[in-house]
This record gives sequence, structure tokens and C-alpha cells, in this order.
Amino acid sequence: MKLTDLEDRAEVILRRYEEPKAAMLPLLWLVQENQGHVSPEAEAWVGRLLGVSITHVREVVSFYNMYHTEPVGRRELRVCTSLPCRLRGADGLLERIRSSLKISPGETTPGKEVTLTEVECLCACEMAPMAQLDERFVGPFPPQEKEAIETLIQDALSEPGGPEATPEPEPYICSDGPVLSTRFKDPTGTWLEAYTADGGYSAARKVLTSMTPAQVIEEVMGANLRGLGGAGFPAGKKWSFIPTDSARSKYLVVNADEGEPGTFKDRYILERDPHALLEGMLIAAYAIGSHKAYVYIRGEYFRPAQRLQRAIDEAYGRGWLGKNIQGSGFDLEVVIHPGAGAYICGEETALLTSLEGGKGFPRLKPPFPAISGLFGCPTIVNNVETIACVPFILRHGAARFSEIGTATQGGTRLFCVSGHVVRPGVYEAPVSVTLRELVEVAGGVRDGKKLKAVIPGGISAKILTADEIDVAMDFDSLRGAGSMAGSGGVIVMDESTCMIEALESAARFFADESCGQCSPCREGTGWVHRIVHRITEGRGTFQDLDDLLAIAGDMEGKTICVFADAAAWPVQSYITKFRDEFEEYIRNGRSGRTRRSEEDEACPV
Ligand code: SF4
Repeated sequence: MKLTDLEDRAEVILRRYEEPKAAMLPLLWLVQENQGHVSPEAEAWVGRLLGVSITHVREVVSFYNMYHTEPVGRRELRVCTSLPCRLRGADGLLERIRSSLKISPGETTPGKEVTLTEVECLCACEMAPMAQLDERFVGPFPPQEKEAIETLIQDALSEPGGPEATPEPEPYICSDGPVLSTRFKDPTGTWLEAYTADGGYSAARKVLTSMTPAQVIEEVMGANLRGLGGAGFPAGKKWSFIPTDSARSKYLVVNADEGEPGTFKDRYILERDPHALLEGMLIAAYAIGSHKAYVYIRGEYFRPAQRLQRAIDEAYGRGWLGKNIQGSGFDLEVVIHPGAGAYICGEETALLTSLEGGKGFPRLKPPFPAISGLFGCPTIVNNVETIACVPFILRHGAARFSEIGTATQGGTRLFCVSGHVVRPGVYEAPVSVTLRELVEVAGGVRDGKKLKAVIPGGISAKILTADEIDVAMDFDSLRGAGSMAGSGGVIVMDESTCMIEALESAARFFADESCGQCSPCREGTGWVHRIVHRITEGRGTFQDLDDLLAIAGDMEGKTICVFADAAAWPVQSYITKFRDEFEEYIRNGRSGRTRRSEEDEACPV
């Protein structure tokens, strides 16, 4: 399709944004979806539409890893090799695909059928080892299941739009807990009718007709709802920072840029209960006086974005969004904004910079977004899960939510359990649940093996050894145990796990995803990965371990955002807690646990 044929659709996209430049990422997606890649001509076209230089468009395109600047195959097969997938055999899966297609990652088959890409976490760790074929998540594909992998490969080689031999699974393994996951298993639960039949939107009606914004904030504060994206900051308190005397527009931005390896909970809310998110957004927007909300969804989340858009359309159609909602006089517009493959955009200021049409560069705080956020206006950024808790709080009362949790954190969480457990999946539990209990809920360690270690809150969290897991999963208890609750991504490792290779996987992730603004982070993550990688090649020295700890120490607390700290924590905790294993690996040039036989391919790290 010619660029001129896209102008009407570009105009529709531009109308969604207060500032034209903010339409950058969706316009680049429009081009790529219709032309297969973003050519220099397309960059110039986007630049003209937005009133920015082609140079700026180019630097944005180059920042995000989902945009193609060269033609690619008719289909794209992305294979995740992040830690949770590696624990279950991603290296073997990639090798089988590579040898069958006879191409390496980054290459396209000679007939242009398919491009193979190796990617970091797609946040579908319950399906590990998994892949994404065009827009579909597919898995699991343990490397020993040759027939299933062959079917996937044939699927990838077939023409786009044909029958799907490997469909995306509907909810994989998940609980039906009291707050967030009650509708996850109900195939009709995503529709507005089912949601309202369960009492949905009754909290929003109550708020709009009988509560002041200050009362709503007070209720959320009383519930002890903490930010569930990872930071754990009290949500009601954050809302209270929005100035009430400012005439400027106020924005609510929902962070659906789920990207922390080991985390996949927000995807379930977006796909399985989108109206809970929308009702929570309506209540939050009312509380902070916002009439425009954005949901920033990671670019790889195609089906979640489609499900949420369907729910948004339903809500507009039934008067739960738009002008004069249910006759209350309150207005709210909601726009989905697609990311394009950059982990750092999950950091709230990077997300705002990205939403404004730039590279996802974090900004120094203060000023905090509540004072100067999107387009320089007061803005609240909250994670999907945080906002999805809000309807329960307003419907059942702060006390009921608060008493489910601990003294300092109310409610439940969606814990994502992956790695070496029998049943990887999303499990809702009170935040007072212990890490050991969660491992047991997921069926315990698979194949009768012993537990070696657990990462309790996504790949950034400090690792805990098997005898450190009798700890509650709330923010404060895990901080007291020397780790963090983070994003709720629980990655379980059994006794066969090689900690050096596990650290190499984490280090590669951080080196790939640093935005590069700060020297300690840009250089530190690169050095860490190079040294750990060299150790895995059998060329390590004992001095390397002290050098790694020194580099990690230099990364902490010295940068614009906490990404560098998050990259340092795994280095420090893995080496401190498993130093003997690192030294043995260096002494022998490899790990006694590293096995490459067919039978062991499912657990290469
Ligand atoms: Fe970018 Fe790293 Fe600095 Fe954060 S710490 S701003 S990711 S370079």
C-alpha cells in the first residue's frame, strides 16, 4: 500500500493525541503493518505529518526493536531465550528451529517466507519455552517434542492468514481468586454484559453519583493498595499528589508495558478481564480530575490490545466512557498507545517520554510525574494490576481489601510462577502468602528434583536460596529478606540449574536493554555481560568475580533511573550466594551441571 493511501488512517490516529508528535509510534506501526518495514521514505512521511525532522524519526525507529528498517519475511517467528524460557529448554528449541529453517536469528529464509528473531522475554513464561508467530503467542515447545516444533515451523512457512496449526492458547494455568482473577477462566468474562452481571461498574456508578474525588482517594489510601508494577508505592498517596488547584489538563496513564522477565500477570487482566481495568481507570480518573487516559501496551501484546480495544468500544457504546458518563457530567476518553519493543519504557518517566513520541529515555526525578508528567502536565502512572484492584476496593470497602493482606499492604497479587515447577502459571493469593507456599501451589519442583533457588519478583530481584523462601510475598517482608517483591514474577530453579549461565542470561538482558544515557549503566551492563559470558566460555579468572562485584557496586545509586541498580542486584546476589559454584566453574572451565545431551536439553542453564 502506498503512503498516500494511509493518510486517512493517519489522520484518525493524529486526532487521538493532544500533541502531534505523540502519534509517532502508532504511525510507525501503521507504516510497518502496511508496507512490511519502515523505509526512509516512510520516515520522511511520518516526519512531515508530525512536523519533526527525519533525523528525529530515524533515531526513534532505531531505539525500538520491533521496527524493521529493511524488508523482512512474510512472517516473523520470534523465539524467546530469556531466563524463564531458557530454564525450560529455549536454547534447544531455537537450535531445532534454526537447523530446520537453515537460517540464524536475524535472517530470512531464501523464499522470504519467514524471518527468525531471537528475543528477550515476551512475558508468556507460563508457556515456556515459547515463541511468537506474527501476532500469536505459541507454546510450550520443549525441545524433545520434535513433532510440535515441526508443526510450528510448517505453520511459519505457510502463507499468512491461513489456518493456524499452532493457535494461541486461551488462559493457560491460572487461579480464580477473590479480587483479580474471578473471571479469568470464564470465556464470556471479557464482555461487558458478563462483567455487569457480576456487579461490574457498580463501584464506578457509586463513585460518580455519591462520592467526591477526595473521598475516593481516602478510600484507596485506607485499603493499603500498593503499586503492583514493582515499586510498591501506595497508590492512594500517589493520587493525592495531583495538584487540585492546577488549571492544566491532568492525565491518567496505565502502564501495560509488561516486560520484566518472569512476569505475565497484566496480560491476563488485559485479555481476560479488561472491563475491570476500565472501571478502575474510570474511578482513578475521577479521583484525580483527569478526562484523558492512555493505556501504554507493550508492542508484542497484540491480542491483549485487541481485547482491550473491544472492551473500550463496548464501554463507549454503553455510556461508560466518553462524554457525560451515565449522566454524571463526568467525561473520560481512553486511548490505547502501542509500544514497540523496549523494556525500559516500563519505567514510568521513560514511558511518558515514549508516549510523547521520543526514544524511551527515563527522566530525572523530581519533578515527579504527578507535578510534571505527560506533556508537562500533572500525570498519574499506575500499573494495570494496581488499577484493576480499584473496583473491588470501592465496591467492598477499604477495610475488606486491607484485611486480606498485611498491616502495610492490602489485598492479593497475581503471582506469576515460572521455571522449574510442575504447573507454571498465574496464581492469585493474599500478599501474605509465603514464597514456599507459592512454589507448592504451582505443583512444587518438577521431576522430583530439589529446589536450589528462587527469584521472587522478576529478574531484577535478588535471588533467594532454597532455605530463604519461608518469607511472605508482600513488599516489606521481601525487602526485609534482602530481596524485593517487584513485579510478582517468581522464577524457580531446581538443583540442576547452573547459576553462572543463569546470571549470563540476566546480564545479557540488561546489557541489551540499557537505554545508554548513563555511563555507569551503559558501560557497566556491557562489562558485566562480557565478563560473565567469558566465564561461560571457560575463560574466567577468580579476579573476575571481584571485578564483577566492583562494577555492580559502581552501578548502584548513580544513575537517572533504577535500571542500573536492578542490573547490579542479580550480579551481587548470585556471586555472593553461589560463590563456590562460580569458583568451581572457573576452575574447571565449565560447570558440572552444564549438560548438552538430548535428554538434558530441556534444562540447559
Ligand atoms: Fe538509561 Fe540505565 Fe541510565 Fe536508566 S540507568 S537512564 S536505563 S542508562
